[in-house]
Amino acid sequence: MRLGSSWRWQLSRAMRLALRWCRLCRPRRGGRGGGGGGGGGAGGGGLVELWSYGKVLLKSLYFNSLSNSDTLVDCVFEPVYWIVDNVTRWFGVVFVCLVVLLTCSVLLIVYLCLLPIILSSYPVHWIVWHLCCGHWLLLMVVFHYYKAISTSPGHPPKDRADLPSVSICKKCIVPKPPRTHHCSICDTCILKMDHHCPWLNNCVGHFNHRYFFSFCLYMMLGCIYCSISSREMFIDAYNAIESYYQTPPPLYTFRERTAHKSIIFLWVLTSSVAVALGGLTLWHAVLISRGETSVERHINRKEARRLQESGKVFRNPFHQGRMNNWKILFGVEKRSHWLTRVLLPSSHPPSGDGIMWDCTFTRRDLVPI
Ligand SMILES: [Zn+2]
Ligand SMILES: [Zn+2]
Repeated sequence: MRLGSSWRWQLSRAMRLALRWCRLCRPRRGGRGGGGGGGGGAGGGGLVELWSYGKVLLKSLYFNSLSNSDTLVDCVFEPVYWIVDNVTRWFGVVFVCLVVLLTCSVLLIVYLCLLPIILSSYPVHWIVWHLCCGHWLLLMVVFHYYKAISTSPGHPPKDRADLPSVSICKKCIVPKPPRTHHCSICDTCILKMDHHCPWLNNCVGHFNHRYFFSFCLYMMLGCIYCSISSREMFIDAYNAIESYYQTPPPLYTFRERTAHKSIIFLWVLTSSVAVALGGLTLWHAVLISRGETSVERHINRKEARRLQESGKVFRNPFHQGRMNNWKILFGVEKRSHWLTRVLLPSSHPPSGDGIMWDCTFTRRDLVPI
């Protein structure tokens, strides 16, 4: 039972017990008739009774036959969890605004500073390449980001009795199909949950896993593209800024100084995002190759270690082979899909419903729960 939901009941119980205590404290009418010694004995007995009743009263306020140290820690940290969950929810909105704002600022600098130089000084074939490559990456980033934040990751249906489940979610009180996990930030169960992404303000699950991965991939490629394309301009701008402090200072107009600072901002931002996102994309690529989600990675490692101790080998039942895992994620059913579904924007749904899993499970294998 959650602490917050039961406080009224606890309060009413405390009030009832306090009233009973008051009744005990009241002098008894029958005691007045007794002698002095008898009265003193009754008073001592009353105090002992009062003390033991007080102890029982205090214990009864927090006693629960199912409670243990974990429950106690959970109760103590419940307000902290609440604050973290709610703050993260709001941080998600701020993070999404930050992604949009930074992407728009990069676009603005590219269109105002980088593109005019490319158009005026590069040969025709390079101009065509820059225009095509840059706009293709922009289209892919915008499409996949929009789809990743607006597509629901998928939830287990609450009204189906024939749901294949491996356990019951103790928060939602619904059966959990394989690969489903509860997200404490969204406060609901997510089908094939990977993780809760604050940059999307959404959970990454069965229905938006592809959009999330493609967004990371194309954003990383876009950042690498901007970083490499603006490298020479960055060196020029850096040298120009260094010369600001010479005597006499060079005569740069306000527009030129702004352009120098913008180019520095563009290169530093895109390079650092490319490195950070590169690591994240690589990590998710490894997980996809293994047929695991981020949550399953931790569970499977624990399970593998546990089985290793007893001389057994753990096999991931959702691993369909490296290439097949990629085909399943991107929904590639024929060769042309690599172009139409991976290299071009496509809003096709993922294979399967996220509830039934076509796994390589046999009786000898073990399913991670
Ligand atoms: Zn749940
Ligand atoms: Zn979530």
